[in-house]
Amino acid sequence: MKQKLIVGNWKMNGSLAANAALLQAIKQGLPADNKAGVAVAAPAAYLAQVQAELAGSAIGVGAQDVSQHEQGAFTGEVSAAMLKEFGVRYALVGHSERRQYHGETDAVVAAKAQAALSKGITPIVCVGETLAEREAGQTEAVVKRQLAAVIHQVGHCVSELVVAYEPVWAIGTGKTATPEQAQSVHAVLRAQLAAASAQADRVPLLYGGSMNAANAAQLLAQVDIDGGLIGGAALKAPDFLTIVAAAQ
Ligand code: PEP
Repeated sequence: MKQKLIVGNWKMNGSLAANAALLQAIKQGLPADNKAGVAVAAPAAYLAQVQAELAGSAIGVGAQDVSQHEQGAFTGEVSAAMLKEFGVRYALVGHSERRQYHGETDAVVAAKAQAALSKGITPIVCVGETLAEREAGQTEAVVKRQLAAVIHQVGHCVSELVVAYEPVWAIGTGKTATPEQAQSVHAVLRAQLAAASAQADRVPLLYGGSMNAANAAQLLAQVDIDGGLIGGAALKAPDFLTIVAAAQ
């Protein structure tokens, strides 16, 4: 069976003290025979701390964003090369909060994915429809358009991506997609990836949107759900560890 991948997205939460306590608890709570891939996407300001805390552990360091630019006059941005210096293995790109609050277009998201790949960082490409789009019957068209932009940009590197389906209406709302709803969108994304790459099966397809300790097992049991992108529940070690346990 394919290894599952669980990634915590801390969003703009944490402090030096809280991060240390959370990471200690996660490291101590991971079973010795853990089979899932595990990573945490921390705020950029804490990447050095997270790298140090996770040194020698199998838990990967993730970033929540990456600049599409290589270097230069882009105040406030962090380049892929900079992230790489802090041991970053994954970078979220196109999280709905970035699309919504920072105006990130499909083209910008695609350029960010490319920038990450160029420095050996795996982009976790987030796609997902709003409630209005779902109600208008546009779910499939929206996620396919979002993913197509990235596929077009990265060319033969499609199999190096991670893709996260995150229905916007389920993020931070406590409303989770049902396992059937999530699976049916994942199947669409899987087919789209397969049409672009013979190695599409390698691409982990994560579900994100109020995944928690209680619903993770059912979601992760779906045939095309290869893991989870976890927001709120990633800030509580027992909940995060329960999700990881459901991913074995
Ligand atoms: C997220 O921010 O990627 C997310 C899935 O958040 P939550 O789990 O809190 O819905």
